[in-house]
Amino acid sequence: MKYDYDIICIGLGPAGMAVSIMASEMGLKVCGIEKDKIGGECMNVGCVPSKALLKMARVNKIKFEGKEISLDPTAASPFQKIRDYVELVGDTKTSKMFKKVDLILGEGHASFIDNHTVEVGGRKVSAKCIFLATGTEPAIPPIPGIDTVDILTNKNLFGLNEIPKSMTVLGGGAIGTEMAQAFSRFGTKCTVIHMDSYLVPVGDPEAGSILQDVFEKEGIKVHNGKSIVKVEKRGDNIALATEDGVEIVSEKLLVAAGRKIDLTSLNLENAGVRYGKGGIEVNRYLQTTQRNIYAVGDCNGNFLLTHAAMHQGMIALINSMNPWPFKKAFEKYIVPWTVFTEPQVSCVGMREKELKSRNISYETIVTKYEDYGVAIAEEVAVGFVKVFASSRGKIYGVSIIGEGSGEMINEWALAIQKKIRIYDIMFCQHSFPTMGFLSKRAAETWMMGKMQSKFVKKVCKTVFKLFS
Ligand SMILES: Cc1cc2nc3c(=O)[nH]c(=O)nc-3n(C[C@H](O)[C@H](O)[C@H](O)COP(=O)(O)OP(=O)(O)OC[C@H]3O[C@@H](n4cnc5c(N)ncnc54)[C@H](O)[C@@H]3O)c2cc1C
Repeated sequence: MKYDYDIICIGLGPAGMAVSIMASEMGLKVCGIEKDKIGGECMNVGCVPSKALLKMARVNKIKFEGKEISLDPTAASPFQKIRDYVELVGDTKTSKMFKKVDLILGEGHASFIDNHTVEVGGRKVSAKCIFLATGTEPAIPPIPGIDTVDILTNKNLFGLNEIPKSMTVLGGGAIGTEMAQAFSRFGTKCTVIHMDSYLVPVGDPEAGSILQDVFEKEGIKVHNGKSIVKVEKRGDNIALATEDGVEIVSEKLLVAAGRKIDLTSLNLENAGVRYGKGGIEVNRYLQTTQRNIYAVGDCNGNFLLTHAAMHQGMIALINSMNPWPFKKAFEKYIVPWTVFTEPQVSCVGMREKELKSRNISYETIVTKYEDYGVAIAEEVAVGFVKVFASSRGKIYGVSIIGEGSGEMINEWALAIQKKIRIYDIMFCQHSFPTMGFLSKRAAETWMMGKMQSKFVKKVCKTVFKLFS
């Protein structure tokens, strides 16, 4: 059978970019289809603009440290600058990477005709393998009245021109906490409200409560464990009412309450690809129920993170070229994550809840930033490194809240993936003075704990007497 292309990739966010750029560099004939902008959610309305906003907000906070942040809506507005940067990166860097890819851009949704053929903008294209990398959309919870007000989501947030006076953030996860801190540091009176019992609920509860303390000191109000029952317009403002009688009124409402995977326009039924509410079904090799079609990144619902999306793109492409014994299982690769608030919240491997539910016995090792001279001197003495390990040093999971945790967590990801034991971290020199040195400290703390055993002390004494 002759096809137009070796590979078609639908969606050119991080996952689709990884597939199409790598495949074209390998000499395959590739067609990339994108209904909106190259770079997807991450580049245009996700990671990149949100991290830029956070960085600008940090500078703004330092400028106004100790003084009331003045709300000069035009002078303080960072949005145009962010939009300019996103455009510049898109025009000068991202699009250059697609030199060898045939692109179909802005022609609308691609949809399947059969398992080798896709239609887009009235055109039909076929390929031996098709990669789905169509991402997610913001989910809007079905709260009565929410459809009667103008809400913000990450889709329109960076299109603002002015810093709002007040904003309620619905959601205490990564997007909600990052944006609450960023806007608050620009002078917006922010309130975070969510249903979970602590902020960043996919992480460590203690990290969530440290973050809440920091937020409250910065003037951000946090409502945990709240269920909103009504949203309504009140003059120029938006009012929210909770089940237990709390009312919050603000100029803007940012909804950051999860993601939804909308696959209806793809006509996946025509290709025999099964999907559900949680996304497109894939096996461990990222193949869908139709084996020549792969689903990578957020659209399969496995991890909603850019690095995971890119990694899956790479793994699936490798799998599409290799026979079974050489295919790679995507779940084997450990996924660290970071929420880029200040302090950053990072995590990798199992959390305590998971260890308990799986009846795994573990030891908890904690090192605190407040006990580290460097962190004190640099005025970042907030947070901890918490390691869950077996009595023999197998590392199960690590949570870090604090300065630099987004960098530090990668070392632990490598350790877990490569089955490196905690004492190996201790014997690995870490440059000083860095926050990463706290990881070595955690490993030393584990070792010191072992030294408390009478048996180990006795052995040490005996060996010392015999050989020194
Ligand atoms: C505000 C915000 C901040 C974030 N910050 C981080 C962060 O700091 N770190 C991190 O790891 N992750 C972060 N994320 C998550 C990250 O953006 C996503 O995990 C990542 O973008 C997923 O990549 P993807 O390629 O799977 O999908 P997407 O980036 O969503 O790309 C999918 C693309 O497919 C296109 N598409 C969809 N359907 C069709 C169709 N039928 N035909 C043609 N094209 C189609 C879409 O237009 C889109 O461009 C953030 C997300 C948000 C919203």
